[in-house]
Amino acid sequence: MASVTLQNLTKAYAGGTLKAVDNVSIEVQDGEFLVLVGPSGCGKSTALRMIAGLEEITDGAVWIGDQFVNDVHPKDRDIAMVFQSYALYPHMSVYDNIAFPLQIARMPKDEIDKRVAEAARVLELEAYLKRRPGQLSGGQRQRVAMGRAIVRKPSVFLMDEPLSNLDAKLRVQMRAEIASLQYRLGVTTIYVTHDQVEAMTMGHRVALLKDGVLQQIDTPSNIYNKPVNTFVAAFIGAPTMNLYWATLEGQGDGLGVRLGSHLVKMPAQVRAEHPGLGRYAGKRIIVGIRPEDITEADDSQAGTADCITAEVGLVEALGSDVIVHLGIDAQAADIRSSDSLDEIKVEEGKSRCVARFTAKSSVRLGQTVTVRLDTSRMHYFDGETGLTILD
Ligand code: ADP
Repeated sequence: MASVTLQNLTKAYAGGTLKAVDNVSIEVQDGEFLVLVGPSGCGKSTALRMIAGLEEITDGAVWIGDQFVNDVHPKDRDIAMVFQSYALYPHMSVYDNIAFPLQIARMPKDEIDKRVAEAARVLELEAYLKRRPGQLSGGQRQRVAMGRAIVRKPSVFLMDEPLSNLDAKLRVQMRAEIASLQYRLGVTTIYVTHDQVEAMTMGHRVALLKDGVLQQIDTPSNIYNKPVNTFVAAFIGAPTMNLYWATLEGQGDGLGVRLGSHLVKMPAQVRAEHPGLGRYAGKRIIVGIRPEDITEADDSQAGTADCITAEVGLVEALGSDVIVHLGIDAQAADIRSSDSLDEIKVEEGKSRCVARFTAKSSVRLGQTVTVRLDTSRMHYFDGETGLTILD
């Protein structure tokens, strides 16, 4: 096993205006499961391919353990890759597909037998070793591809969207299988995905890229709760965080957030945690609030300083909870537009606000409701840079 260090890693393709990977530095710990995530085209695969040695490095360095590997051939890097297309050989048995890299390396037959048996046991493929890939389900094929990676006992696994060919249910199952396999084997793993749910559920840490630039690298919980900028805030979480233009008004105990015609009071605890907000008095900022931090207010709460009125648009009852699309009097800060959201009508002059209510909610389309914002969990961003206002 080994750590993987990316030092100012950069890739410029000929003819590209932006760098595909731009000065990325990451230290992946020995045994860590790191997820590289970001929208399509942000440079994830290019970064992974440079680590694998399949793409030339324009600038910067890759270290595997204490070995500088920029010029080391892929097959000498002690890595194993798993791709989205499993690249299994259709005419070969499952056994031979798994054994293939060991046969190429001319490993003694009894050692190959031992390793394939071990991989088949770990991946629950023992009953299928004689079958051809065509006689397996999608999930089993994906496990064979994993088997081929693990028999080599590499220092590092590199996985590029390995689950994207599977249907939704199987993806959820394989997500858990890969995470538990990585936990058991303890092999340093770098996993590329565009799916923020995979990022949040699988890795020890998540590295989020945008236009080749590393935005944030942290635990899933910190990425979710303490996004460094509006891009990370909007990318992670589904439904996405609501973001609005706002102005800070008043001072001290009277400090509040002006959201459209509402003045939402800021709790003392928030002011204490973000003393820097004082510098933004009178200035435009962006505030963010996650759907689960917006609840239906009861009668006793209506009219208090953290409640606002909203028009109910679409109601999506999911069983476990209810996603409610509201129209509120505020100006949305559109960081990431989503086609599907745009189709949902919001009353003229209002901005969309998505809330997650409990399953008990009985709100209906067209109703006017009072909602309560959990102001202790609001996010505050600089209106010009989009960076979070931390201190
Ligand atoms: P991701 O994996 O995040 O979807 P990629 O790493 O595949 O992104 O691509 C990053 C950027 O580099 C994109 O703008 C893409 O168009 C560009 N790119 C990828 N491969 C090549 C190539 N072989 N030649 C030129 N540009 C490329």
